[in-house]
Amino acid sequence: MSSTTTRNPLEVLKENFGYTAFRGNQEKIIQNLLAGNDTFVIMPTGAGKSMCYQLPAIMLEGTAIVISPLIALMKNQVDQLRARNINAHFLNSTLTKGEIKKVKADVVAGKTKLLYVAPETLTKAEKIAFLKSVNISFIAIDEVHCISEWGHDFRPEYRKIKTIVKEIGDLPVIALTATATPKVRLDIIKNLHMEEATLFKGSFLRDNLYYELRPKINSKLQLVQFIKQHKGECGIVYCLSRKKVENLAEFLRVNDINALPYHAGLDSHVRENNQDNFLNEDADVIVATIAFGMGIDKPDVRYVVHYDAPKSLEGYYQETGRAGRDSKQSHCLMFYSYTDIVKLDKFNKDKAVAERENAHHLLEEVSGYAESATCRTRQLLHYFGEHVEKDCGNCDNCKSPKETYEAQNEISLALQAVLETGEKFDIKHLSEVLKGSKAAHIISNSHNKLPIYGKGKKTDLQQWVSILRQLHILEFLDKDIEHYGVMKMNPIAYEFLKNPHSVLLTKDHEYPEANESDEIESIDHHKQHEIYHKSYDKALFELLKKLRKEVAKQKELPPYVIFQEDSLEEMATTFPCTTEHLTHIMGVGQGKARKFGQQFIALIKKYVEENDIEIPSDMFVKTQANKSKNKIHIIQQIDNQVVLEEIADNLHIPYEKLVEEIEHISHSGTKLNLNYYIDSILDDDKQDDIFDYFMEAETDDIDEAIEELGDDYSEDEIRLMRIKFMSEVAN
Ligand code: ADP
Ligand code: ZN
Repeated sequence: MSSTTTRNPLEVLKENFGYTAFRGNQEKIIQNLLAGNDTFVIMPTGAGKSMCYQLPAIMLEGTAIVISPLIALMKNQVDQLRARNINAHFLNSTLTKGEIKKVKADVVAGKTKLLYVAPETLTKAEKIAFLKSVNISFIAIDEVHCISEWGHDFRPEYRKIKTIVKEIGDLPVIALTATATPKVRLDIIKNLHMEEATLFKGSFLRDNLYYELRPKINSKLQLVQFIKQHKGECGIVYCLSRKKVENLAEFLRVNDINALPYHAGLDSHVRENNQDNFLNEDADVIVATIAFGMGIDKPDVRYVVHYDAPKSLEGYYQETGRAGRDSKQSHCLMFYSYTDIVKLDKFNKDKAVAERENAHHLLEEVSGYAESATCRTRQLLHYFGEHVEKDCGNCDNCKSPKETYEAQNEISLALQAVLETGEKFDIKHLSEVLKGSKAAHIISNSHNKLPIYGKGKKTDLQQWVSILRQLHILEFLDKDIEHYGVMKMNPIAYEFLKNPHSVLLTKDHEYPEANESDEIESIDHHKQHEIYHKSYDKALFELLKKLRKEVAKQKELPPYVIFQEDSLEEMATTFPCTTEHLTHIMGVGQGKARKFGQQFIALIKKYVEENDIEIPSDMFVKTQANKSKNKIHIIQQIDNQVVLEEIADNLHIPYEKLVEEIEHISHSGTKLNLNYYIDSILDDDKQDDIFDYFMEAETDDIDEAIEELGDDYSEDEIRLMRIKFMSEVAN
């Protein structure tokens, strides 16, 4: 490699890129490469890695080869360079024969400064022969973490790069990535034989990002509220599956949020269109799988939400890193439930053993991060091998610290366990030794014979895990890079054992397990109601109750038949002023809204006007037309007069569960005609009895009804009659 020019890099930067100064380590990196040295660059996304090879490529004679895993982005990168009058090309499977010929001609003529290639292109003998025959300045390997199985984006083709590079010639190599844990870093160095390379590592600290975790409970409602609090700003919502992407985007649109879906399964023009709409600010929110975002350089993304747990912290940090590129304060929110981790783990069950184990470890790191009450920034940076002295003061754990406890004794025990087991075991194993577990792997290692065995019996196993993790972040313990997860003693750990002193640790978060229906089907109305309950307008509520009483009297019906109390509370919170809005209130179906709605709407309207109430739109969360398969199925079968036992059989649910679902459907305002079934189990007189009871009762409470009627009727009969009653008089 020879430099044809004595120009200095800064001049070239100004002339070709129009920038006035280098950022961070850029200049040193460029000088190092220009001097012909192997160079290893780890810098966060957006820090300006591309410049580190683009600029030397321009300055040096010949063509620089850029190996990049993403064919889809190559064209974009090349276009950007060409727009700056820099001669760049790409070589991949998307080109026609004619195009390939032209690219080659430019390279042979020495015109091309940068040639982007995919690793699979490089495996073709004919391509290698060609590259050997021309003048190559150096080789850049972008996204080099793809080489490691321990990273989050392993690509087997990357494994062959070293052999290919050697074949092309003895050329300087610059390897770049935005993500590399110490373990992945070591893997890269070994694999590319880059032991001699100079390492440049930029800080991963992004102090404008606020990291927050919330339990994944009622997450759809939370999401709508979160987005509405960020009105006028744009953001990305990541979820796991394509189906969920579409479902969630639709749900947001129903709630007047301008959201579009993005995933690899969409038609390519739809996908590009949606991406463009987001970039051009025609859409505020993009709901996407992780397929979205690579190479996206939108500076003003104000929030990134992980609706589902991510598969690794590397991926997570990259994805959240797309927020706040303009350095302004931005919000990274994750909804977390351990159920997600279990689900993700199950997805891996068909993978090869080693791969599955890696994936499992990466997931464990995610749950460790989520459950820990230690500063988020500190944890994330620590994960990437960067030690931070202080808490960030700008994350959920810093802003609302969990209670701390004196842990001097526990720390002594934990460190003792590490020592006695010979610094060869991971956190889980160490915790089991402390706890005195009788698991086979403890016995087979004779760890039940160690003095430390069972010394920590009184503390929960999970708490030992938490303690050991915190010792890792506080740098008492280090992870062995060669052996995944193995904990080793650091000097301060020995120091501590010699002179034990007070150390405060924090208790982990405990997240309730989310249940499936909570987030996937629709918002649980009862939970939503709990939220309303705190804030309803008491004066309006009283007025609504008074009106209900009048209407009831006039129609000679019990008040609860008109609207349930819950529904009135919700009206006093969301102030529905149209029939359409009214039908979104819990327990109000079309029928009820039509039968009784007008007077209530008039009352609410008047109240809103007289009191200058601004209707809080973010409190008004609509559910999608309930797509629950069961629900549609049940209604259809009832319409077809199928006996209930048979419906339950068809749906593979117990009969009791079916009745519960039918009650639910009726309760949310749908009219159901069960006469065909009820007539077959109860004669007219008995039916009248129960019907009359509900007509006279103060409430439709089932326990009260059973108490009153229970001697003569079964609970099932009462429940079914209640549905009939509500369907006939109320819905
Ligand atoms: P990375 O590859 O590290 O994610 P990029 O190479 O895409 O980052 O650079 C991010 C943005 O920063 C690009 O728009 C790039 O043009 C710009 N950039 C790079 N170096 C500089 C510099 N020295 N001064 C100003 N802008 C720069
Ligand atoms: Zn913090």
